[in-house]
Amino acid sequence: MVPMTLQRSKPVIRPLVRDLQPYVYGEQPKIKGLIKLNTNENPYPPSPKVLATIKAAVDGRLRLYPSPTSDALREKLAKLHGCQPDNILVGNGSDELLALAVRAFVEPVDAVGGRLSRRFTAPPSKATVQYFKPSYSLYPVLAAIHGAAVNAVSLEMDYSLPRGSQLRRGREWDFSAALTFVTTPNAPTGRGYATAQLDALCEATRGVVVLDEAYVDFAEENALALALKYPHVLVARTFSKAYSLCFQRVGYCVGHPDLIAALHKIKDSYNVNGLGQVAAEATLDDLNYYRENFQRIIATRETLRRELTGLGFQALPSQTNFLFVRPPKFTAEEWLLKLRERKVLVRWLGAPETREFLRISIGTDADAEALLKAARAILRQ
Ligand SMILES: *Cc1c(COP(=O)(O)O)cnc(C)c1O
Repeated sequence: MVPMTLQRSKPVIRPLVRDLQPYVYGEQPKIKGLIKLNTNENPYPPSPKVLATIKAAVDGRLRLYPSPTSDALREKLAKLHGCQPDNILVGNGSDELLALAVRAFVEPVDAVGGRLSRRFTAPPSKATVQYFKPSYSLYPVLAAIHGAAVNAVSLEMDYSLPRGSQLRRGREWDFSAALTFVTTPNAPTGRGYATAQLDALCEATRGVVVLDEAYVDFAEENALALALKYPHVLVARTFSKAYSLCFQRVGYCVGHPDLIAALHKIKDSYNVNGLGQVAAEATLDDLNYYRENFQRIIATRETLRRELTGLGFQALPSQTNFLFVRPPKFTAEEWLLKLRERKVLVRWLGAPETREFLRISIGTDADAEALLKAARAILRQ
């Protein structure tokens, strides 16, 4: 017997939603003493000034709506980046901005007379979301939610960007794709890309390009200037990773006022909660605290990379707050479970192009020691 609820849900849920493969979140388990290195959270808390500002904002004002367009925060961000507030949109985390970009710039396939299931005809560019493989696994989900097609283009063997000439030699790059996402520095590989190479890619690509710089504060270069140079380029940033504010959900993007205005039109009315706006503003007033943390995290990252290499791991160079490593002796999935038994949680992404690797977030030096201790014990088994 089919349960009543299943029978009834069939006709009311859109087939696209019924068949959707949703985004797979990193676990947030509540295990006592767990060393949590699986979702790239910052091991250091927000600055004391930021915490005090958030606490001071918790009063009767909570009954009021916040600024619908995060105006005070946009003013501060514009000053920081040497642009105008109308170059900036603030979002409920940068994930919201990525979703808005899909909705604003990409046609659903059936709106242009195509069919998603017609596998052997190339989907029209105006209904295509393009990205590199591997990169942030949310992009294909956002495309699927919108009923858009995807063009996932493989990176080089060493995870570098294909050179312009290789793109041109038919690496299936769609120069007219409505929207291209580039995670830079890349996740989960940790690899940084030279701004000059991103510039060439933006110049050659006609659709909108979003440079997703979630980890850029741990990198040697950033590409913010490209968002102010090209009318079709957006740079997305977040307060989550580098600024220890995952909990508050604040991100922003920078770009040409026409693109930003289009995104403003379709966002939810009060998309960024008031405490998040207050926290992000206070963060921008205390950047030196965070810059010290970046240096600490980078130092821990480099030490951990050396130590893991010494244990036989292939640890790729990283410009982020995580390492992408191919472990010795056991498969990556086995390592995930063996480390978990020892209360160290890392991330394993089971896609064909990432399944031999673990992604390990950089925590404190003590976290790194605990990970190394567990790894040595596993290797002795
Ligand atoms: C974490 C992450 C984001 C999203 O961060 P938010 O918490 O939504 O601001 C975006 N892109 C990449 C590549 C990320 O890793």
